[in-house]
Amino acid sequence: MSSHAAASRQSTDETLPPDGATVLSAPQGALSSPAAVASSATVTASPIASLEADSSSAGGGLEALLELFTLPRVERLDWRVAREAGVVVECLRADTLDAEISGNKAWKLRLPLARALSEGRGIISCGGGWSNHLHALAAAGARLGVATHGLVRGHPEAPLTPTLKDAMANGMHLNFISRAEYKQRDQPGFSARFSDALWVPEGGGSVEGVAGLEPLAQALVTTCNGEPAPQLVLMACGSGTTLAGVLSALGERDGLRVIGVPTMNHGDQLYHRVRRLLARSGGSEQKTPEWGLWLGAQAGGFAKAPAWLIDFIQRFEAETGLQVEPVYTGKLFASLAHHLANGMIAPGTRVRVLHTGGLQGRRGYPALDAA
Ligand SMILES: *Cc1c(COP(=O)(O)O)cnc(C)c1O
Repeated sequence: MSSHAAASRQSTDETLPPDGATVLSAPQGALSSPAAVASSATVTASPIASLEADSSSAGGGLEALLELFTLPRVERLDWRVAREAGVVVECLRADTLDAEISGNKAWKLRLPLARALSEGRGIISCGGGWSNHLHALAAAGARLGVATHGLVRGHPEAPLTPTLKDAMANGMHLNFISRAEYKQRDQPGFSARFSDALWVPEGGGSVEGVAGLEPLAQALVTTCNGEPAPQLVLMACGSGTTLAGVLSALGERDGLRVIGVPTMNHGDQLYHRVRRLLARSGGSEQKTPEWGLWLGAQAGGFAKAPAWLIDFIQRFEAETGLQVEPVYTGKLFASLAHHLANGMIAPGTRVRVLHTGGLQGRRGYPALDAA
């Protein structure tokens, strides 16, 4: 037995969702209640543009915020299965945003962080023991001077994950709550029981989260060095917020298909979640590029990592030099490899993959780094 086993995902069932689909659900109540729609609509009035304009006169927090959100680079992958399929695969490296605050979680937090700074408030949110979202929130809060509060599903007596240790080291105040309590998380007034800080739903899955992704969405279709624009854009999905953000920012666009790869069971339900997020963000008339989901990549369910997936990731990393993790990006590239190897992507297609980060979560899978 490896000495890391106590901190690994496989052995800490207490921090695993009983059923990934339930835990990853977009806030159903909040989505269907007209009152909640109305209140979240006012929330989006948060004037990021004027915040940016005011940043010279504002405190260091806003300047640090603007400094943090630089657009990631695009890299072309040297990958045999793509070469053999005659397909160009490029990667938008949102994992490189910052040493500590990686990926799409930071972009989803962009507007809530700006609002917390301008209102002089903290942020309270929730997640599991390995949550990339809580990890990013704690690190961003420490960087920008925003107090953070995390509601964690599970028990404090379970060994503290490296993710939560990092969050605490970044000053996040943690409350451990039972599964029963956790299920109430999207009820009005829930977070107020713990803190009067600004509430951000699990995974940053809000209208503000969707809106914050706009610059990242544009970077996904930006051409590089005069080469043609991508025709296929891919990303891993959990709550579907990132996919909704990309679709809503890009609007109607000929010659582009955007594909989400669900990483949990019942991935088909994601279609409806994304539609609801789009309707809340841009109204029912919201135009999007053509989009869809590639199902079947969940590899047994959320956060599950069968031996074949670990093996795929090790070979992928050795060949391309690009690090991924088992929960999201490993499944995304495994799905892409499957489509490439089976001739399901036309030769000559340019594919742009969003690397959403989450590499801190590799620590839950010691088998990845075993020889
Ligand atoms: C959370 C997460 C996702 C999924 O993002 P959603 O907006 O919830 O769909 C994808 N990749 C990584 C690395 C993540 O942490």
